[in-house]
Amino acid sequence: MSAVNLAASLPRVILMGRPNVGKSTLFNRLIRSRRAITHDRPGVTRDRMEGTVRGRGKVPFILVDTGGVTMDGHESAVEGPRGLRGFEEDILRQAKEAVAEGAVICLVVDGRDGLTPFDEHLAAHLRRTGKPVLLVVNKVDGMEREDMMLAEFHALGFPLMAVSAEHGHNVRGLEEEIRALLSARAPEDGGREEEDDAAGSAGRPDEGTGDGAEDAGDGTELPDGGPLRLCLLGRPNAGKSSLVNAFVGRERMIVSDEAGTTRDSVDVPLERKGRSYVFVDTAGVRRRSRITDTVERFSVNSSLKSTTKAHVTMLVIDATGGLTAQDKRLVELLDERKTPFLIVLNKMDLVPVKARAALKRQFAEELSFCSHVPIMPASARRAEGLAALLEMAGRIREECAVRVPTGQLNRAMDEVLARHQAPVVRRVRPKFFYLTQAESRPPTFVFFVNDAERVADSYARYLEKSLRGLFGIAHAPMRVRLRSSHGRKGERKDE
Ligand code: GDP
Ligand code: GDP
Repeated sequence: MSAVNLAASLPRVILMGRPNVGKSTLFNRLIRSRRAITHDRPGVTRDRMEGTVRGRGKVPFILVDTGGVTMDGHESAVEGPRGLRGFEEDILRQAKEAVAEGAVICLVVDGRDGLTPFDEHLAAHLRRTGKPVLLVVNKVDGMEREDMMLAEFHALGFPLMAVSAEHGHNVRGLEEEIRALLSARAPEDGGREEEDDAAGSAGRPDEGTGDGAEDAGDGTELPDGGPLRLCLLGRPNAGKSSLVNAFVGRERMIVSDEAGTTRDSVDVPLERKGRSYVFVDTAGVRRRSRITDTVERFSVNSSLKSTTKAHVTMLVIDATGGLTAQDKRLVELLDERKTPFLIVLNKMDLVPVKARAALKRQFAEELSFCSHVPIMPASARRAEGLAALLEMAGRIREECAVRVPTGQLNRAMDEVLARHQAPVVRRVRPKFFYLTQAESRPPTFVFFVNDAERVADSYARYLEKSLRGLFGIAHAPMRVRLRSSHGRKGERKDE
């Protein structure tokens, strides 16, 4: 593929927002250059800027700064409500054009200004487009009341990242989040590409993948290195067997088409793009007879057991059936057990193209209690979205292995505490002493405090979110514990 073609085929990420919220500063940060000139003076005319964001071993994407707000429009925005209208129209027109070609939209707002009516207006417009939107709250520079600052933005209902473009806070976290959103959208052509690579390569499960060869584990039976072990979980007929087939290719189909055929659970190896995978315990690989009561007979316990043999679990949900109570229960269980997992919305081919974004949003809303879990559309039948599933699974495995050096832990603690002080509870503000990482699977962080009971739940959630951002743990499960330093077991989970 020539460079030109490649650029044309790269996904586009659009920075959108009012003037002066910091879009070009963010743009510069993300493309790691000073190409876009940041203007201190409001009202400087600017054209639309484009740059490529690369990362080692990562798929590049094109970043678009919608910039070009006209001088008149910009000034009138500063001047007052009457002018606002003209400027609004200007941005909305641009928004429409840019959004149409964007894979992911970053709505940039100014955390210090708070939520303005125009932000809301723009948000409503973006929501209607059905595109994945990430709300980027900029200028969160280290002020105390970050939680309060962010609260009103949460009301917009988009996933939210607090950053400081100027100081570079959390810009890497933002980049990760953008990539995750990019890989979570249905890559219509991704599956195809994979198909070619898979041809002919028989499973060689013991060959190292080159990326997983870190140090020895922490007592779990799962090997750290070697093939990425995957477990497919989900209700009968969700499409687990079909997915395994789609992954391994027709020629290695191990499913019997005869109804009711049973088969002991087997491990199915897969080699893709030089990486090795194993689908463990693919008991679902027998063709079940289509009896309706299979739903009742589906045993949650035995399937959960398989998840302990895998690095990453794929929970397969039939997109056409909505989120059933049983699916939801499974998500809750996996979340509680801190199982590294992603959700596959299978059978997307049966969902009209126009309805897909809304469907995904609906699932995301219902599963908002575990917002770190990626929801990935796919179609086993059309072999679509499969590459993204493997990529995301690989990423989750890597995130599970994150080990943060002590120095960095303490700097991180200082930073999150400085950005937003712990609120006073019963007239006392809790004191934080230090932060350690306890085990690495899943990453577990322990804050030592004088009195864990005095740390508000909302603050604990803030801590988890901040650590996720700082340490690049976007999709893996994570534990944040608070431990009182005066002996009493004041341990508290992050739920
Ligand atoms: P744009 O019009 O949205 O592209 O905004 P700019 O990137 O030009 O930024 C507008 C102003 O906000 C400039 O003076 C920047 O230096 C400032 N700015 C950008 N990011 C931050 C930030 O994170 N914190 C603070 N305090 N100022 C910022
Ligand atoms: P399992 O019980 O979870 O292993 O589900 P199966 O793989 O046996 O699939 C159940 C039914 O759904 C079968 O009739 C499949 O052909 C069908 N199916 C699976 N995946 C897809 C898909 O992506 N699209 C469509 N249209 N049908 C699918």
